[in-house]
Amino acid sequence: METVRDNLRFSLDSFSEAGVSCEFVLSPSTLLPYLTASGDEDPAGAPNLVTSLRGRLDLNLAGKRLILKGTFAVKTEMICARCLSTFIGKVGDAIDEVVELGGRGAGQAPEDPEGFITVKDGLFDLAPLLAELFWLSWPVRALCRPDCAGICPGCGANLNDGPCLCSGASATRH
Ligand SMILES: [Zn+2]
Ligand SMILES: [Zn+2]
Repeated sequence: METVRDNLRFSLDSFSEAGVSCEFVLSPSTLLPYLTASGDEDPAGAPNLVTSLRGRLDLNLAGKRLILKGTFAVKTEMICARCLSTFIGKVGDAIDEVVELGGRGAGQAPEDPEGFITVKDGLFDLAPLLAELFWLSWPVRALCRPDCAGICPGCGANLNDGPCLCSGASATRH
């Protein structure tokens, strides 16, 4: 049985030819500093995570390239793009990345890595990468439900709660 990791800090020494496979659970407090550090990629301020971020990863090292495959998922509060109500939605995706490992003064310029991970004293941390993937997976138009009725442009009532007064008065709504 493999153990479930509570962080994504890895030692280069721990990589065998077969690579590393792991499950991980990152608590909101572990993840939040990375999520808020990603600056202008952040569309919603600090997210209000309601679960830990869970996932699994297969890591393989090919030279200085780290090949990552896996999945992750977390539940978080979101604001519906149509009715503006707060709801709990899922952010998650497959992980399929190739990143370049390097330290200070790494000699060669990476050819075309999708990212660059700093190695310090033989250690590197994938939490910043997970934070980046979290924001990339954040829905562009989050909806509280696929058929969200939105808000009435006339009175601002949430139409998911039923027809509003002005739609009844105008009698144009069926
Ligand atoms: Zn909605
Ligand atoms: Zn209305």
